[in-house]
Amino acid sequence: MQLFPCPFCGPRSESEFLFGGDAGNDRPEGFREVPDAAWASYLHDRNNRRGAANEIWMHMTCGELFRMERDTVHHGVSGSFALGDAVNP
Ligand SMILES: [Zn+2]
Repeated sequence: MQLFPCPFCGPRSESEFLFGGDAGNDRPEGFREVPDAAWASYLHDRNNRRGAANEIWMHMTCGELFRMERDTVHHGVSGSFALGDAVNP
């Protein structure tokens, strides 16, 4: 079992976390004017990167969303940050 660092609670078991998707996959503004292809891309296209990734996670115990920098190959976590913190602190 891996420990994930919640920026609010500290290290916790990975079973307490829920994956929220890639960081930076922002919802298109102005839903009435957004072409169908842009909505489809927002909802379904994923980078599925190999290596370093920025992801959004939720710690279900405290209910906070945060950004985690994680390597998708060896699952090492290099940092976790409250949303709104600088992208490269
Ligand atoms: Zn937490």
